[in-house]
Formats: sequence, C-alpha cells, structure tokens
Amino acid sequence: MPASAEGQPLLPQSERGPDRPRITRTRAVLTVLACVLLAIIVFGLATQKRTSLPDDPLERAHALLRRSPLVDTHIDTPIAIREWHALNLSAIDLRRHGIKHVDIPRLRAGGAGGVFWSVYVDCPGTAGFNESADFTTPSFRVRDTLEQIDITRQMIDAYPDDFVFADSATDIRRAHAAGRIAGLMGIEGAHQLGQSLGVLRQYRALGVRYMTLTHSCHNAVADSCGYQGLPPLHHGISAFGREVVREMNRIGMIVDASHTSLETAHDALSLSRAPVLFSHSNAQVVYNVSRNVNSSIFERIRRADELGDRSETGVLAGDAVVSTTAAGYFVANGTATLADLADHIDAVGRLAGRSHVGIGSDFDGVPLNKTPRGFEDVSKYPELVAEMIRRGWSDDEIAGLIGGNVLRVLDAADSVQREMADERPSAVLYAKRRDLPKSHPREV
Ligand SMILES: [Zn+2]
Repeated sequence: MPASAEGQPLLPQSERGPDRPRITRTRAVLTVLACVLLAIIVFGLATQKRTSLPDDPLERAHALLRRSPLVDTHIDTPIAIREWHALNLSAIDLRRHGIKHVDIPRLRAGGAGGVFWSVYVDCPGTAGFNESADFTTPSFRVRDTLEQIDITRQMIDAYPDDFVFADSATDIRRAHAAGRIAGLMGIEGAHQLGQSLGVLRQYRALGVRYMTLTHSCHNAVADSCGYQGLPPLHHGISAFGREVVREMNRIGMIVDASHTSLETAHDALSLSRAPVLFSHSNAQVVYNVSRNVNSSIFERIRRADELGDRSETGVLAGDAVVSTTAAGYFVANGTATLADLADHIDAVGRLAGRSHVGIGSDFDGVPLNKTPRGFEDVSKYPELVAEMIRRGWSDDEIAGLIGGNVLRVLDAADSVQREMADERPSAVLYAKRRDLPKSHPREV
C-alpha cells in the first residue's frame, strides 16, 4: 500500500456514517459502566449473602453449621456397641435412639458434618491382662481392633441415607454438600498395633485415618500420661516409635497425641513431618490434669505458626490442632458446664491461635452423666458454637473451630504422603520380638 493511502479511509465518509467513532466510544463507555454496575451488584449480593447471617447467636450457629461441616474428631460409639451389645448392630437402631450420647436424630439436630469414629480397644492390663515389660506377650488387640473397624464400617453402611464412609477432607466436603454425615476412623493407642508396622499399614488400608500414640498405658511406641500421670518408660517416643511415626507420615496416617505424656507430645511435634492432632484433649491452664495439654505445647504451636514453620526438622508443628473434649473429668472439677468447655476452647485459641482448635467430644466414650451441663450430647453442637459467637469468635474462626482446622490437617497429611511417595515401606522390626529369625538387619 502506498504511504499516502494509509491515511485514507477505506470507505467513503457517507458509508461509514458521520458519528461512527463517537457511537463506538459511547457504546464502549456504556459497556464498561454496565460491567462496573454488574460487578457492584454481584459483589453486593455476595457480601450481603456473607453478612446476612442472623444476629441471634444460636440461629447464626445453625447457619454456620449448614455452611461448613462440623467434624467431631473423637466419638466412641463403636466401643459402646462392643461393650453394650457384643458387636450386634441389629440390637440398636441409630435412627431411633443411640446407646448414650449419639444417634442420627441428635447428630442431625446438632448439624454434624463428619465424625471420626474411634476404633478403640482397651489397654492390656485393664482386663487383668499384661503384655509383659517388653510388650511381647501375644494378645487379641489386633483381632479386637479389626472387629471395631468392621463394626464401624457396618454401622456406616447400615444408614446410607445419613452416613457415608470418608477418608479425606474432600470426602467430608462432598458428604456435607450431599447432606450426609462423613464417617472416618481413628485408632486410639499404639497398643492396638501388636508392635507391627505391617499391621499399621493394613489399618490405614482399611481406612483408618489417625492413630493416637498411646491410650492410658505405655506401649512399645511411646509413653502415656496415664489417668493421673505415670512414671516415664521411654521418656517420650521410643526408637521403635520413631520408625512408627515416620511410617505414619509416609502412609498418611495422622499422628494423634491425645493421652500421651508431655515428653511424647513434644517428640511428636518434633518428629512428625505432618501436623499433629490432639483428637480429644483440653487445656491444663484451665483444668490442670495430666490428660490435658500443657501450655508449652500451645506456645510451641504458636511459635512454629508464626515462623511459617518447617523450621526444625522440616516439621509442620505450626499446623497442629487440639480438639477440645467434653469428657467431664477433663473439663472441670466437679460438675462441668458448657461454659467450662468454652473456657478450654478460648484458652487453646488464646495460647496456640484460633486456627489450632477443634472439637473432639468423646461422646459415647464417657458415662451418660459425665458430659458438661448444656453440652450433654451431639445435638448440642449449635449451643457450643453460639457460646463461642457470644465470646467474639468471628464466622471464619468458627468455621475453623468446627471443622476447617481439622480438614487442613487432613490435607496436610495427604500432601506429606505425596512428598514421601518414593520411599519404600519400612522393613523395621520391633527389636524385642522373639517370633522371627534374628537375622533381620533392621531392628529398633
Ligand atoms: Zn480417649
């Protein structure tokens, strides 16, 4: 094209129309204005939707429970089915009424979105049975744990309109969106392992998502805090326990430090690459019993969180969560109340940070009358949430408290598992076993 033609209009003025540029500009301006207006309206509606929650604390609590899932990290219905009904699921109808604190109508009234069902069996010694000082005497703990896993899966399957098995944060969110209660599982004490990493791996394969390092007895993995403190055996996590924790990280089994001694809890924070959960423990600063969590743990969580963590040994200590428990004898001296439990939640929030608190009631794991007044069973979650709203917890903090913080722990355990995907299953044997040839190269 000749240089002179570049300035020439391609069409005669008359065909383009005299006001074409102005119309185009006006149209563009109008379009932009319309877009801005639309954006303002959409944003306004979204904001309105977020802020249009009722002001009344209890109504607001119900609305928040509908919005994001409440996940209780410790409920003991499976052991209640074992001990009250000899594992006969047909002896109860959870659509009508449960054994103690838990049934479907009350879970629904409470707005529950997910439950970690504890597949607990008791410590050796509690039934006059002893595993010996070396934890080498064979026991039925693995059989009994398998039965607890089985009865839990049966229970979830028996009520498909209400329950659905879940193994991840995504499963929980999906269940909540579908109006069903997600069911996960947790083992409550490494005495349930039979000192075998193979057993640990198989529990995970069956869908168990956390393991508490101890119940109220010491075991080959770690020291317990007992019921009222115990003289230490390993001074924290044993050499074998270190391998157990590493293997738990590798397979995505969350390390739970409830019931453990203070030394064990600190070791867990140091050793675990994935965030530690305290599935059902309160704060010693509110009620000083050995079963509750010492403030040094909260301070460590806060410090690690502030540092952005992964500082010492690459640990995610700063993501740990302490789920407070409604087991009356860990809430207050004498008759516990909902306000006492709320004091524990406030204390963990104050000392560790509000993104480090959860709810792990221990319902069905304590006698009927040993839950706080005002928080007697699973139907009372909204009352507890309403109390925290009255105490100034924001909507986002409540969403974390009721489940968001625990979902974060689940997701983090998954990501550590992915990071360790290239590592081989541990071949380590518990050194004191006498049933296998002593030629094994790796014993601890
Ligand atoms: Zn417990």
